[in-house]
Amino acid sequence: MASPFIVNTVELLRRLGTQKDLSLIVSASRFGFDDSRIADDSLIDVNLHLESLTNGIVVHGVLDAHWQLQCRRCLRPISESSRAMVDELYQRIPDNPDAYPLVGEQLDLQPMVRELVLLGAPESSLCSPDCPGICPQCGADLQSDPCTCDAKRIDERWAVLDELRQQLGEQELPAIT
Ligand SMILES: [Zn+2]
Ligand SMILES: [Zn+2]
Repeated sequence: MASPFIVNTVELLRRLGTQKDLSLIVSASRFGFDDSRIADDSLIDVNLHLESLTNGIVVHGVLDAHWQLQCRRCLRPISESSRAMVDELYQRIPDNPDAYPLVGEQLDLQPMVRELVLLGAPESSLCSPDCPGICPQCGADLQSDPCTCDAKRIDERWAVLDELRQQLGEQELPAIT
C-alpha cells in the first residue's frame, strides 16, 4: 500500500499556486519511534496544506499527537497531547539552507512529520508529579495500595533499639557524682 505521506509533485508543480491538502490520522507506530514508553495506539492527527510557489513547495499545517504512555514510576497508562506547527519548504535546487530536498516526482512528507512529532514528544511521563511509584520490596502500587514494608522496616529498627536498651538496662549504670 502506498504511503499516505507521498505526494505527487508533478501535479503540484505543473502550475504555480497549485494547492493540495493532506488530512489523515496515523498511528505513531508507523514512525518507528524508538521509545518504549510510547504505546502503539498513540495517534497523530496530521493536517497539512501544500502549495507550489516559485521557490519550491511550501508545507504549512499542524500535527497533533495524542500520546498513550506509561507512567515511568508506577506503569499506569496516561494520555498526553502535543502540537507541532509545520512551516517547511521543499526545493528541487535548494537555495534555502533549511529547505528539504525535492528529489524525483514523489515527495515523501513522512520524515519531516516524524521529526517534528518526535520533537514534541513528552520528555518524562508521570501520572502525577508526586507519583509514589511501586514499592521496590513488595511491588505494591503505592498510590492505591499503600504497603506495610516501610512500617515493618521501622519496627525492625525499633526492635534493635529495644534490645540495646535492654542490654544497657541490665548493666550497672555508672554513678553520677
Ligand atoms: Zn505513576
Ligand atoms: Zn511494600
